[in-house]
Amino acid sequence: MSEDERDDDDPDASDVPDLVQTICPMCGGGGMIADPKMAVIGGVARTVDNGRPCPLCSTEGHLPGLVPPV
Ligand SMILES: [Zn+2]
Repeated sequence: MSEDERDDDDPDASDVPDLVQTICPMCGGGGMIADPKMAVIGGVARTVDNGRPCPLCSTEGHLPGLVPPV
C-alpha cells in the first residue's frame, strides 16, 4: 500500500466509467426474447412461447458501454 495509489478520485477525470452499460434494446434487459411458434400438441394447434436467449446480449440483458439508439 502506498499513497501514490490515491488517483481514483481525480476531479478532472472525464473518462466514461467502466460500469456504464446500456440496456439491451432487443430484449429490454430481460436477456430472453419472445419466440412464439405454432405447435400441434395432442392434435390441438396452439402457440408455444418458450422464449430464446437474446442473440444481441447473450442473455446478459445489457450491453457494455454506451450504445446510441439506432
Ligand atoms: Zn438482449
